[in-house]
Amino acid sequence: MTTMKAAVVPAAKAHWELQDVPKPEAGPHQVLVKIHACGICYTDALLAEDVLNFRPFPFVTGHEGVGEVVAVGEGVTSRQVGDRVGLPITQKPCGRCDFCRERHPYSFVTANNCAAPTLTGVNVDGGQAEFIAADANGTVLLPDGISYELAAPTVCAGYTVWAALRRANPKPGARIAILGVGGVGHLGVQFAKAAGFHVIAITHSPDKHDLARELGADDVVANGAELKQIGGADVLLHTAPTHEPAIDALQGLKPWAKIILMGISANDTFAFPALALTGHSFEIIGSAHNSPEYLAEALEIVARGAVKPMVEVFPKERVDEAYQRLLNGELRFKAVVTY
Ligand SMILES: [Zn+2]
Ligand SMILES: [Zn+2]
Repeated sequence: MTTMKAAVVPAAKAHWELQDVPKPEAGPHQVLVKIHACGICYTDALLAEDVLNFRPFPFVTGHEGVGEVVAVGEGVTSRQVGDRVGLPITQKPCGRCDFCRERHPYSFVTANNCAAPTLTGVNVDGGQAEFIAADANGTVLLPDGISYELAAPTVCAGYTVWAALRRANPKPGARIAILGVGGVGHLGVQFAKAAGFHVIAITHSPDKHDLARELGADDVVANGAELKQIGGADVLLHTAPTHEPAIDALQGLKPWAKIILMGISANDTFAFPALALTGHSFEIIGSAHNSPEYLAEALEIVARGAVKPMVEVFPKERVDEAYQRLLNGELRFKAVVTY
């Protein structure tokens, strides 16, 4: 049996271990991908800490894997050996349930509505390994000129925030506020700027003000009152880990503003003041990747250099160190593991 190295999550709340496991093969309609890099997403921590539970331990996470196709299975025509691809979380819908009959594009909405979806790094092993076999249609082609290290965090974090901005569908020249300058928010500031909007970062961390400006923010404020003082915002991209600062930020939004939620947490509730919502005719919108066309757009924007994810790169032997830094909130801003 041929083996490979994989970052195995052996049990709930355990340290991740680089182990020898069986190397997969490309089945029908699958490609075998040699992973070059894989980002760690906060959703991986929810799985590894057993907050979200889809299957028994041990398992391999990773839905920000990128690499090179090294073999194609029977029936594959859309991918070739040598293609550079990414492997986002929604790999394959069942194709038969009521949701699938409507033939929606693959997205995280599919993941939550298809009766039996295949989810990379969630209910099947993911990209934190030297190789992965995946449905060819569940991969995306990477544009030329994007490095694996920068493509990896774009496959979930970048996709998440770009799809959220696209979901808001702001008018040209709109004022976009990004709440939180972390793993997702630091990308949101850059994507909104790359798209030509007036960008306002909201962060209560004084040490992040200069950084937010370097990333492209036109203004940086600490809270909703300051946001109102500088003229408010038409869109609030909520990337903060808790909802309190988003509720506070409502007082700085312009009438008819849109509030976009995109994070995944467990059992939390977004409790908003009803009078503010109705009185200003705010819209609250949930966003869940929405369509792979937005991933393709995000990858193109990163490939042309208009957005540069800030990553800490770890060789596979240090995968647990990367994970511990994520858990402890020590990353600036995305951990990428190379294989
Ligand atoms: Zn993710
Ligand atoms: Zn289905």
